[in-house]
Amino acid sequence: KSFDLEALINSLQGIEIITDSTQVAKLSQDYHTFSPVLVPKLAGKVGDVVVRPANEQEVLKIAAACVKYRIPVTIRGAGTGNYGQCVPLHGGVIVDMTRMHEICWVKPGIARVEAGVKLAALDKKARESGWEMRMAPSTYRTATIAGFVAGGSGGIGSIQYGLLGDRGNLIALRVVTLEDEPRVIELRGDDVQKVNHAWGINGIITEVEIPLAPAYPWVEVILTFPEFMAAAKFGQALADADGMIKKEIGIFASPIPQYFTPLRQYIPDDTNAALLLVAEQSLEFLPGLVEQYGGTITYQKQAQEVGKGANLLEFTWNHTTLHARTVDTSITYLQSIFPADKSLKLVEHMYHHYGDEVMMHLEFIRVNGTAIPAALQLVRYTSEERLNEIIHDHEEKGVFIANPHTYIIEDGGRKVIDPEQLKFKEMVDPYRLMNPGKSKALELKV
Ligand code: FAD
Repeated sequence: KSFDLEALINSLQGIEIITDSTQVAKLSQDYHTFSPVLVPKLAGKVGDVVVRPANEQEVLKIAAACVKYRIPVTIRGAGTGNYGQCVPLHGGVIVDMTRMHEICWVKPGIARVEAGVKLAALDKKARESGWEMRMAPSTYRTATIAGFVAGGSGGIGSIQYGLLGDRGNLIALRVVTLEDEPRVIELRGDDVQKVNHAWGINGIITEVEIPLAPAYPWVEVILTFPEFMAAAKFGQALADADGMIKKEIGIFASPIPQYFTPLRQYIPDDTNAALLLVAEQSLEFLPGLVEQYGGTITYQKQAQEVGKGANLLEFTWNHTTLHARTVDTSITYLQSIFPADKSLKLVEHMYHHYGDEVMMHLEFIRVNGTAIPAALQLVRYTSEERLNEIIHDHEEKGVFIANPHTYIIEDGGRKVIDPEQLKFKEMVDPYRLMNPGKSKALELKV
């Protein structure tokens, strides 16, 4: 490392700085630990200092100092990302955005917030006026909005609104550049794609303007099914029932729901489960549909009881993996999207083909107007070679895999870096200081 850290620290007086090495190491981590492939690759990678800006003025000062001394910069929200996006490969400064947590305003259908606002905090505020977030990852209690924009993709609510990157799901982003003289750029409309899901390589997001959804009273439901494919087909049918309002349809092949220790009393041994969030107004229509697929409703939590007892949402999406790993740390996961096919033939094939090695976990989402199953299958890990074999087999058969076992942006979900993002990167980060090493297309140039 050839950078002058002391000069940087001296130039940032008045801004909160953490130099304690234990703290800095902690704030250099994220949840890549779900991947046995990433853990050894990212071991020992830590930043040198953490800075915690309180406002955009401080972000501008930090950006100017990092440019002046040519120091690598890793931006961090809550650090719940799964691909090592927050782990600095070349040391340097970690910019922790969590002190910037002001909700600027909420209007009918739109909110504007600072980067470090927690998703649950925005949701709570929006609900005061009858609105809520369109979608959120299952980490919504800790994750920040800018971390979701820069590192996430969708989640609870995606069955209605699609993925975060879909046109219309983000209105505007305010970004600080790392030019010789850092400035603030506001990206609006389709231009937000220049920064969306760019893993913090494209400028520092300071504010986010996001569309909201009408808030419904949501009922949490657990169903069980003797047959997995009946559960999966129920999921597709509920996803397709346009008159029924829902926010979450998660389907879990046995033994996955048996890993959900706090829910065990509602999920007998050897049964497959569905976890749902259904609007109160649609609840009456659920038993008929469940019966059609041979399922049983074993649990319901009314909307007014939200906040009491177990929170079903924290068993869905990648929380499923988290719960399974608390029982068996050799379990890892895949991120997939199955092709649109209402008969779910490929799901069925994979379910039978892999048996207990790749356990099926479906999350229904809406893609281009059609409800399809995304999947976060649980994998009993044996070797990297076998994992890659499984991934390639899925890809060959037509399952899209967003590989969560790589810290290289192009090898994950996107496959290539969007040329518009690269062009924007060249303008806002000419010295390539931001999250260096995470893209094949970019080399560290310090
Ligand atoms: P971080 O991890 O802190 O950062 C993520 C990326 O964004 C990093 O590259 C970082 O550099 C960049 N970044 C952060 N803030 C800024 C900023 N201000 N400016 C520029 N770049 C920035 N994700 C989903 O999409 N859906 C899910 O359902 C989901 N479920 C999960 C469940 C579990 C148990 C776990 C551990 C993770 C899950 N994730 C999921 C991944 C992750 O939690 C979410 O994407 C979350 O929104 C990330 O927010 P964060 O604040 O923790 O971001």
